[in-house]
Amino acid sequence: MNDLDFNASEYREMEAQILDTIDRWVEKDVRPIALHFDQADEYPLELVEQMKELGLFGATISQEYGGLGLSATTYARIVSRICEVWMAPSGIFNSHLIMASCVQRAGTAAQKAHFLPRFATGELRGGIGLTEPDAGTDLQSIRMVAQRDGDDYVLNGTKTWISNGIKGNCLAVLTKTDPQASPAHRGMSLFLCEKGEGFTVGKKLKKLGYRAIDSAELIFQDFRVSADNLIGGEEGKGFVQVAGGLELGRINIAARGAGMAAGATKMALAYAKERKTFGKPIAEHQAIQLKLAEMSTRAEAARLLVEQAAVKFDKNERCDLEAGQAKFFASEAAVKNSLDGMRVFGGYSYSPEYEIERFYRDAPLLCIGEGTNEIQRIIIAKQMIARSDG
Ligand SMILES: Cc1cc2nc3c(=O)[nH]c(=O)nc-3n(C[C@H](O)[C@H](O)[C@H](O)COP(=O)(O)OP(=O)(O)OC[C@H]3O[C@@H](n4cnc5c(N)ncnc54)[C@H](O)[C@@H]3O)c2cc1C
Repeated sequence: MNDLDFNASEYREMEAQILDTIDRWVEKDVRPIALHFDQADEYPLELVEQMKELGLFGATISQEYGGLGLSATTYARIVSRICEVWMAPSGIFNSHLIMASCVQRAGTAAQKAHFLPRFATGELRGGIGLTEPDAGTDLQSIRMVAQRDGDDYVLNGTKTWISNGIKGNCLAVLTKTDPQASPAHRGMSLFLCEKGEGFTVGKKLKKLGYRAIDSAELIFQDFRVSADNLIGGEEGKGFVQVAGGLELGRINIAARGAGMAAGATKMALAYAKERKTFGKPIAEHQAIQLKLAEMSTRAEAARLLVEQAAVKFDKNERCDLEAGQAKFFASEAAVKNSLDGMRVFGGYSYSPEYEIERFYRDAPLLCIGEGTNEIQRIIIAKQMIARSDG
């Protein structure tokens, strides 16, 4: 499903053009700068301007609000193609689009009209603020409080690990409007917070991988936000609103994993054909062939699981199980293929001059974000059991 006024063949043609543009952009503008920005852990601001021109900040935002209105399938293909080369830039628009999807699905008409066009152009961009120093998986134990005061709410608390927290200017922030509520999720509310007095960056966090994209601790100290920015206009819906975005969020992480698994395979194959030992390319040694075969099979299986979940999502069919399986398998495939790729590259895999080194540091994040893979497997099993009960 896409919200453009196209028939299926026109849509396929448009998608092919978009993917071709993305491929050319990745080779011309993304790959050449990856080494420098990753090593310097420097935010690639020039990519942001290019992403605005490409429409990526509005990729899944409805055309009615100035976005491209792309299907989840097309979106996943775009994400995979970028991540075949460098995963971090996808984080500039991925968590931004999760924030946008919360507004698109649950926002009031006024919120949609006010925020979505500005999200689509990238004028306002950011992500989601859920995690706190003492609460990640167990989001119902967050401490950030939002207290009503006249026409405003006053926010106090700390968020951490927030992607786009420094360079972004807007964040969907999960809070407690009723800290005593039981169950806790009934007292949780989501606010759209534009940066201003009382909303400051505590610090930029250093990371193993996924560098160049800022991850920040954010401090809210008597930060006032208008009650108009409470998503949906009703308290107590924040947890459900966040959970509602998880299917697309998981498809997105899965697409990153499938892209990385494919990227690692391509670079290992190319290197294996070039590098010689004992008088022949290492690709002719059976031990290397076994790795290449496993890597390509994992990458292809990951791609197919992502496609399956995205197609179901686009048909408005239930896809929590499929999105969970895709996220779990594709993220593990990215980790395994990065490690196998390192084996193929031998000693050179330890040099940042070779992209496989970055893949190995970037891939593990995919097992943590959008629900850790421990939790993911539990969710998959619970859904299997529930579906088999009828
Ligand atoms: C680079 C990066 C970017 C991030 N970006 C964002 C962002 O933009 N916005 C945001 O809100 N957050 C972000 N996060 C935070 C991320 O979502 C959390 O790290 C993640 O949800 C896990 O939470 P935690 O780190 O507190 O781990 P914990 O919840 O403390 O979990 C620790 C371990 O215990 C396991 N565990 C926990 N509970 C259970 C259980 N019931 N059963 C079995 N195992 C369990 C987990 O799987 C994990 O292995 C980011 C993190 C990183 C590293």
